[in-house]
Amino acid sequence: MRTAPPKLALLFLSSELLGFSDFTWRQFAFSALAMAQLEELELLKKSLGEEAERPAERFQKKVEASISKMVLNGGIDNRYLVLAVNILQNEEGTHEKHLIITASQSLENKELCILRNDWCSVPVEPGDIIHLEGDCLSDTWIIDEDFGYLILYPDMLISGTSIASSIRCMRRAVLSETFRSSDPATRQMLIGTVLHEVFQKAISNSFAPEKLQEFAFQTVQEIRHLKEMYRLNLNQEEIKQEVEEYLPSFSKWARDFMHKYNSADLPQMQLSLPSDGNNNNSTCNIEVINSLDIEESIWSPRFGLKGKIDVTVGVKIHRGYKTKYKIMPLELKTGKELNSIEHRSQLVLYTLLSQERRADPEAGLLLYLKTGHMYPVPANHLDKRELLRLRNQMAFSLFHRISKSAIEKEKTKLAPLPQIIEDQQTCKYCSQIGNCALYSRAVEQQMDDSSVPIGMLPKIEEETQHLKLTHLEYFSLWCLMLTLESQSKDNKKNHQHIWLMPASELEESGNCIGNLIRTECVKTVCDGQYLHNFRRKNGDMPVTNLMAGDRIILSGEERTLFALSRGYVKDINVTSVTCLLDRNLSILPESTLFRLDQEEKTCDIDTPLGNLSKLMENTCVSQKLRDLIIDFREPQFTSYLSSVLPYDAKDTVACILKGLNKPQRQAMKKVLLSKDYTLIVGMPGTGKTTTICTLRIVATTCMGINHPIFSRKTFDFCIVDEASQISQPVCLGPLFFSRRFVLVGDHQQLPPLVLNREARALGMSESLFKRLERNENAVVQLTVQYRMNSQIMSLSNKLTYEGKLECGSDKVANAVISLPNFKDVKLDLEFYADYSENPWMIRVFEPNNPVCFLNTDKVPAPEQAEKGGVSNITEAKLIVFLTSVFIKAGCKPSDIGIIAPYRQQLKIINDLLFHSSVRMVEVNTVDKYQGRDKSIILVSFVRSNKDGPLGELLKDWRRLNVAITRAKHKLILLGCVPSLNRYPPLGKLLHHLNSEKLIMDLPSEEHESLCHVLGDFQRR
Ligand code: SF4
Repeated sequence: MRTAPPKLALLFLSSELLGFSDFTWRQFAFSALAMAQLEELELLKKSLGEEAERPAERFQKKVEASISKMVLNGGIDNRYLVLAVNILQNEEGTHEKHLIITASQSLENKELCILRNDWCSVPVEPGDIIHLEGDCLSDTWIIDEDFGYLILYPDMLISGTSIASSIRCMRRAVLSETFRSSDPATRQMLIGTVLHEVFQKAISNSFAPEKLQEFAFQTVQEIRHLKEMYRLNLNQEEIKQEVEEYLPSFSKWARDFMHKYNSADLPQMQLSLPSDGNNNNSTCNIEVINSLDIEESIWSPRFGLKGKIDVTVGVKIHRGYKTKYKIMPLELKTGKELNSIEHRSQLVLYTLLSQERRADPEAGLLLYLKTGHMYPVPANHLDKRELLRLRNQMAFSLFHRISKSAIEKEKTKLAPLPQIIEDQQTCKYCSQIGNCALYSRAVEQQMDDSSVPIGMLPKIEEETQHLKLTHLEYFSLWCLMLTLESQSKDNKKNHQHIWLMPASELEESGNCIGNLIRTECVKTVCDGQYLHNFRRKNGDMPVTNLMAGDRIILSGEERTLFALSRGYVKDINVTSVTCLLDRNLSILPESTLFRLDQEEKTCDIDTPLGNLSKLMENTCVSQKLRDLIIDFREPQFTSYLSSVLPYDAKDTVACILKGLNKPQRQAMKKVLLSKDYTLIVGMPGTGKTTTICTLRIVATTCMGINHPIFSRKTFDFCIVDEASQISQPVCLGPLFFSRRFVLVGDHQQLPPLVLNREARALGMSESLFKRLERNENAVVQLTVQYRMNSQIMSLSNKLTYEGKLECGSDKVANAVISLPNFKDVKLDLEFYADYSENPWMIRVFEPNNPVCFLNTDKVPAPEQAEKGGVSNITEAKLIVFLTSVFIKAGCKPSDIGIIAPYRQQLKIINDLLFHSSVRMVEVNTVDKYQGRDKSIILVSFVRSNKDGPLGELLKDWRRLNVAITRAKHKLILLGCVPSLNRYPPLGKLLHHLNSEKLIMDLPSEEHESLCHVLGDFQRR
């Protein structure tokens, strides 16, 4: 029985702690503000004057900002919001931390959570989300050393391996989560992976020596392992031999622990389970019955953990005459037989993960593959408690990577990492030592209150002495900007909706499909790729944003089946969806209901942070890049082509240059003469791709440089296309693998997408292309374009390029849309809509009028601001009408592109097209159209609000430039002229369109009459 909370005494309340000048939010959290109820804060504010309002206001803001995104609830996945934190002294004189919490979205129904003993040190703050495990009596939770757990930020799922590694150094664990790519792949890791796979195959088949040989042979031959061997410069035969040395131990383990007729033949072990109660006899025999899953991936939103269990096994524990059956995690280790605290801790954490799927295993098994020795690891409360407390500390560090001072205007800064440890032995073998020293020097040592253990100072100096102050500043700034951006993205990346929101609710956003059942057999494409087909249990697929190629997470609709697998949509139609998944789900019952959730694509900051860290390394390549990029060393060029071209290549090069236009030839020459880098400004449609393809090349994306070929080869040139759209540290990635580089882009088009306002203000949207453009001698321009006809091109010339753009030929300049059925459509429109009396219709559909702006001012077409964003239903209807007519007139749907700046508008247009049975017309944002074109482009500007707030998206003239340069033959712009005139770039464009008499006013209520026309059109 739990006791009632003791009477409390207020520990302290002093104006010093409420310190007006350097008051920090954390002090606020830890000071006893006596916020037993929020109302008390009001009294406090009055007694201490206005200055005391700051923390309360900040708390209020924090709650208000997050409440719309927060899901609070009770039950097994309870999510509490912390309203106040008090430190108090109980009658025994020991301290307790009291949290006022609520699980109600309205913030009413408050409960109390009392943290005792070591739980007092959990760094929880007002505004935080926590999950509680234990009992709640009379609205009071008590978490102490014997009972209950508190999970801080439970929706942040941290891997068991990371938490186990934090035992020795929390800083290393946090750095490894942050600079993931700095933990290099090694021979030992490869051998470990191969051995795991061989064991996993054997446990599902046979441990007979000849079978083991066969599995080893197959596994070593697998293409992904061969690639890794190539990367690490390893010999396949050597790897196979080393793997074979382990195989006898595999067989020994199977002989010892599997398939025994008599339990007495099993090795004796020591294991007490909590459910054994006071039974002092810990001696038992353990028998592994079968393997139930391999690499079982589990997410636990209860404990804030995630992980993959090597093998999930069914086990019989024989003790005397009694036998218990348990399903347990079996962890395989290939290194030294340490039976270390890290290894055991990992298993304890896996027992927590297992509870998401099945009954508490109470223990796990640790198997060292070199010897075949297996150790049972009991998971007792004390171990779980200490590991969850470590997890909380780590979650706190990862969550608070940025520190904001309480003084509003002070700059946002990177927060210090957990302390450097003074353990030379651990540091000596630490894979993060470079980042540890770099972060200390570039970030922490710039802080007033930094402290570094004296013994570590020489090591830090040694690791960073090759760096100048400018380099440290560049690292620190980009680290800050990337962290800020990741925090914006994390909101999206965080998959918490999977466990906090039912699929039926999320379907409305278009990013989820629920109520799916598996049809047909699962097809194995190769190891780790399985083709699954799903259909809705009842009826057709809902309207969705999911498209072929989208990354998805597949879960069961039941809470025990979160995130079963990851993969891609291969095909989607009205009745079914086909996905390529990384796990074969045929073991689940046919009746299992599934859901698909779209996985955010752009949230990777591991790669840019890894590149940034690499840029700071003490290597020749990194030093050259630092000189050029950070210190702006002038790029060098050779004077004569003859000095760089081999004699026998001259004719070939001359022949290639002959096929190019003048600016393209100049660009090619510049590239060939460069010793460092060249920037090619590729205006829209100017044949950048042709120019790039003229050079011989190995092609990849900036994120695809993990291919083994890049680890072994240095290229003459690296060419980065669309470089003005790529963030600096992402763009860096491929540059490490070449002697010279070429950036192709156009800073008059869209810059890198940066979601975080603060990161943008700090300069994160400056691409490497833009940064280096200050060296004018490295820049060449491509001005002859082959996309737009002359009228469409003239808009961009007026808006952006000051007349520099030219058409590549008369054919390009005079090209118009071909509408083979236009005559019939014209007749229909005459009949339904007085076509000949509607000048705007003549203008908009006539192929010889390539540009037209339709003004909706008189219709009118007001915008709507809803939960999903800004939209304009009237514009959407007009767009659908125009699209349908063009298709009827003979235009292929795939030749039409619709652009709108807001997602909600895209969704509405998509819905209307879907219901009008118009398929294959691409509806997308401007950003998605960069680098591409269509024969007809229709743009819906959405904003129609003459004196309301201006949206950010339309203020960017680069975005407008991209929108008006995508159409080859026909560009139709739709919007409210008086509203759009308030945006400077659009004002300039409208002024030009007006002077050319290209703006047409739509009559009042036009969309209504057109809807009738459209209905009749579709019925015919
Ligand atoms: S170098 Fe030492 S202090 Fe730094 S992260 Fe590694 S183990 Fe920790």
